[in-house]
Amino acid sequence: MSNPSFNAFDMAQSQFDNIAEMLDLDQATRDLLRTPMREYHFNIPIRMDDGNMKIFRGFRVQHNDARGPGKGGVRFHPMETIDTVRALSMWMTWKTAAVDIPLGGSKGGIICDPHNLSLNEQEQLCRGWVRQIARNVGPVMDIPAPDVMTNAQHMLWMLDEFEVIHGGRYPGFITGKPVGVGGSLGRKEATGYGVIITLREMLKELEIRPMDTTASIQGFGNVAQHAIELYHQLGGKTVCVACWDQKDQKSYSFKRATGVNLEELRQITNSFGGIDKSKAKNIGYEVLDGDDWLKQDVDILIPAALENQITMENVGFIGGSVKIIVEGANGPTEPGADQIIKERGIHMIPDLIANAGGVTCSYFEQVQNNMNYYWPRDEVLSKLDAKMTASYIAVSDLARKKHLYMRDAAYVIAIGRVAQASKDRGWI
Ligand code: GLU
Repeated sequence: MSNPSFNAFDMAQSQFDNIAEMLDLDQATRDLLRTPMREYHFNIPIRMDDGNMKIFRGFRVQHNDARGPGKGGVRFHPMETIDTVRALSMWMTWKTAAVDIPLGGSKGGIICDPHNLSLNEQEQLCRGWVRQIARNVGPVMDIPAPDVMTNAQHMLWMLDEFEVIHGGRYPGFITGKPVGVGGSLGRKEATGYGVIITLREMLKELEIRPMDTTASIQGFGNVAQHAIELYHQLGGKTVCVACWDQKDQKSYSFKRATGVNLEELRQITNSFGGIDKSKAKNIGYEVLDGDDWLKQDVDILIPAALENQITMENVGFIGGSVKIIVEGANGPTEPGADQIIKERGIHMIPDLIANAGGVTCSYFEQVQNNMNYYWPRDEVLSKLDAKMTASYIAVSDLARKKHLYMRDAAYVIAIGRVAQASKDRGWI
């Protein structure tokens, strides 16, 4: 995170307050929705490989479950804070509502850097996290999933621990599981593909052909790699990819004006999405500063890494050619920078819909778990496409009709649905 004084929860609350004002929500509704329903903070003691005990800090925040059980990922990050998890849980509530799936919003995290943990230590952390929270989560309460630096293997360890504690098989406890152990085909690709489905719909509206466009992308983890995959299948060209370098503890941008080759880059990338700098140079990539992905002469920018990446300090770097920003990450644009983007007339596809493909496919995974019957990949992806397209169109139609910024339109729809469900339940 570039600015240590940045607080994601302040940002999420101020976004909420703006829309609450616009919708003229009553005080009880504001009080209910601007803070999480419940949160859990706990210690996770782990015996490390060297025999020493080490205590990690874990969180689960359940922002709102009026529309269905809480839903949202668990992140591993050295800079994780309770306020980041609070913000992310709130964004999950709006996201599940924006795409109209019957789930609420939650998020979890562990303060740790998995780069420095063995697989055994990561397994102990996953099991330890579940041991602390096992009675407050579950298939009809709150359903975790992968997020930053967690993957299908972590989900399976968490599931296994949950099932030991509860004495049965509960595949719907967690999503993003490996295929063959309750996972859904298409789940791994779903977030990145969803990003590009929303982009495809916007390009259609703007009457621009994907093959006539270029993009610059921040991130090279699961979301970014699959976004690039589908974008290239549609004919687009990615000229720059930025990612974190663990050794140097800073980011770099990797540029090739003729277009990056996804497969080639994957070969020189670690499991956390870090591209090897010297190997990249050897195969003809220019290695530039971390913020340089913003300066490229492209049509599309896709921040697909972390929150708070487009800030007041770097928003001015965005080149004059940029027409569209698609938020693959959660909360990548700081409100001040967002205002400048809005004034510049750049089209914004906000995180609430742009990166909702992951949670939408998680919902399909749970549906399949409940039936104990699994769909082929094509069926999952066509259902994903239909849901993402419909959500995009609903937001875009409202934005056009009411002359709203796309982010505000997505918020109006999402907050309206959650407020209604809360009211119908008699909570407000
Ligand atoms: N972590 C993803 C997100 O931020 C997916 C959450 C889920 O599948 O529950 O949307």
